Amino acid sequence: LVGAFQDITVRRHAEAEARRSAELLRGAVEALDDAFVLYGPDDRLVMCNQRHRDIYPEAAAMMTPGHSFEEIVRYAAENGQYADTDRSVDAWVAERVALHRHPHSRLTQKLADGRTLRIVERRMADGHTVGFRVDVTELVRATELAVQVSEDASRSLARLQAIYDILPMGLTITDPHGHIIDCNPASERLLGISREEHLKREYDAGDWTVLREDGTPMPTHEFASVRALTEGVAVTDALMQVVTPERALWLSVSAMPVQHAALGVVIAYADVTEQRQQRQALLAAKAQAERASVAKSQFLANMSHEIRTPMNAILGMLALLKKTELSARQADYAGKTEGAARSLLGLLNDILDFSKVEAGKMLLDPHPFRIDQLMRDLSVIVSANLGAKPVEVLFDIDPSLPRRLVGDAMRLQQVLINLSGNAIKFTERGEVVVSVNVLAQSASGVTLRIAVRDTGIGIAPQNQARIFSGFTQAEASTTRRFGGTGLGLAISQRLVVLMGGELKLDSVLGQGSTFHFILTLAVAACEGTDPAPSRRPAALRALVVDDNASAREVLQRMAQSLGWAVDAAESGEAALALLQGLKDRGEHCDIVFVDWQMPGLDGWATTRHIRASGLAGDSPVVVMVTAHGREMLEQRSSTEQALLDGFLVKPVTASMLLDAVVDARRVHDQPHPSARGAPLEPGRLAGMRLLLVEDNLNNQQVARELLEDEGAEVQIAGNGQIAVEAVAAADPTLRRRADGPADAGDGRLHGHRAHSARPAAA
Ligand code: ADP
Repeated sequence: LVGAFQDITVRRHAEAEARRSAELLRGAVEALDDAFVLYGPDDRLVMCNQRHRDIYPEAAAMMTPGHSFEEIVRYAAENGQYADTDRSVDAWVAERVALHRHPHSRLTQKLADGRTLRIVERRMADGHTVGFRVDVTELVRATELAVQVSEDASRSLARLQAIYDILPMGLTITDPHGHIIDCNPASERLLGISREEHLKREYDAGDWTVLREDGTPMPTHEFASVRALTEGVAVTDALMQVVTPERALWLSVSAMPVQHAALGVVIAYADVTEQRQQRQALLAAKAQAERASVAKSQFLANMSHEIRTPMNAILGMLALLKKTELSARQADYAGKTEGAARSLLGLLNDILDFSKVEAGKMLLDPHPFRIDQLMRDLSVIVSANLGAKPVEVLFDIDPSLPRRLVGDAMRLQQVLINLSGNAIKFTERGEVVVSVNVLAQSASGVTLRIAVRDTGIGIAPQNQARIFSGFTQAEASTTRRFGGTGLGLAISQRLVVLMGGELKLDSVLGQGSTFHFILTLAVAACEGTDPAPSRRPAALRALVVDDNASAREVLQRMAQSLGWAVDAAESGEAALALLQGLKDRGEHCDIVFVDWQMPGLDGWATTRHIRASGLAGDSPVVVMVTAHGREMLEQRSSTEQALLDGFLVKPVTASMLLDAVVDARRVHDQPHPSARGAPLEPGRLAGMRLLLVEDNLNNQQVARELLEDEGAEVQIAGNGQIAVEAVAAADPTLRRRADGPADAGDGRLHGHRAHSARPAAA
């Protein structure tokens, strides 16, 4: 019994031990980080840990003791646990079960959710099978990435190698100590040494001579490669000359430190020897061209004076010649010679001006000027150009234009003469309008739009740009039809640019052209140059008679800008009717301006009617004529001329209208009104003592004779010094000035220079 009891006790004790061991084992298995499973010899599940159930969430329900391995795997496969689903479930399960029965199997399993498991299974001696599963997803991914990176790197390397081999620039690579570790094929060709020789060299030049751009030796520390290595900076396009025993090369070198030179430097260099030679040839050519240009400018500066002086003498002598007794034939020759000389002078002036502007030698000479004076002078020139053409030339000047501006009046006038000259030349009939409009005005400056519009032949679009370049005309036939050099516009455009504007063109072929530009000029301080108030007529009532609508409108505006009340009539007949109407109402008109050329009653007939009928009472009548009309007017008898109180040569300005009224009123009161307007009598300089300063003997003679003919007493000074002394001697009060600086800063000297530049003024 005791023995039996002891047996029982021992057994119980052993059972308790076994239970405790089993629990210990279960605890240990649950504590494992890897998934653990144990199958019995019959392949039925004995136990597994929670990790194992977690790893197969689709089959977790089946993972209880008693289910066979095959059942569990089939269940998992049917529920989409595995990634490898292209095989049938049967095939899959069969393959997996075969592996499971293997005494020791290792496999990698991909799950449908992207995870990868590493499985190790081992069959033990008693037939049980233990299995461990580890999630190796991250590891697999990292391995795949590493493979990808290394493949990419080797592809990039292959491409880099290709670039390295094909690059026409030389490439040299050094280590951090400056030893050359690699070079490309181009470097061998460029430097004329083999790769092996090259690798033996250091990054500095060794036995080669290296020169700077200026030909002086370049010290090693200045080399691009050395700087990149020692300073760790990138150096680009450094120029150096390398002289090897075989060749002398100009190289443009760039050097780039790799990782702040910790890995050495990459040096790239191109052979620029040819470009360098071309550049030097170019520089030499440029220097030569500049010397030639300076020589040309100097030549022209000299020529300009040398050409104009004899031209002045030729024109002067011709003027003297024409004053002598000449046969009709001689007079004809002299007249034609003068005409030819004048056109030659025009041509020379154009060429000289053009060269001067082109050489950048044209400088403006701004000073205060009166724009109405400029327009009056322009009127004289324009009217002389017009001849007998049926073209109405009008000046349309903004009444708000300040009277005195600051600018180079002579050059501005030159531009306007050129533009209006062209406009008249290329217009057979119609109008030429020179307009000045004020666009903006401030205390110090005024912005003007100056335009010359015509109704002439126009310029085709394809020719509009090129007429501004020198020596070109719109079309070849223009030269034959109208003459000209094609320089006027080129000069005008450059002058306008110098003045701060741009000459522009709007034109329609067959309809006309408008050349226009915008300038900003300073307003000059007023110096009381307006007509004295006593001279200025009070508010007047004026009548303008003109058949041309634009002319009528412009004249009306102009007269209104003077503060007058203005009536306008489009014909002689209408004017008479208007005057009759005024008379009937007991009113009258203070002055009548009548256009000379009108259909129906012309200016002449209208004036006769006004006078005969007494329609204008005692008011003066002024006719407006062209220069050509004026010559015809002068051929009328003096009794006929006495009908008129004055005439105005078109185009007119506001101040010309004003002067015409003042003159007409004075003439009206004179017993012999026809005396006004007749050519000036000789002797108008009688009693004057003039000092002429001129070094050219011919010109001295011309000027002396012309002036003496007019009754002046002429003294000649051959240079400025003599002139200053002569003035001082003649008037002791001026001695102080004569002793002063030679630059008198005097308007008279100025005027002399301006005139001498244009011999025509003689
Ligand atoms: P030129 O008048 O001496 O030929 P320009 O330089 O003054 O030289 O003019 C160049 C050309 O431009 C003229 O030959 C003509 O073909 C064209 N042109 C200039 N002004 C006008 C205009 N107002 N109407 C038509 N054509 C013009």
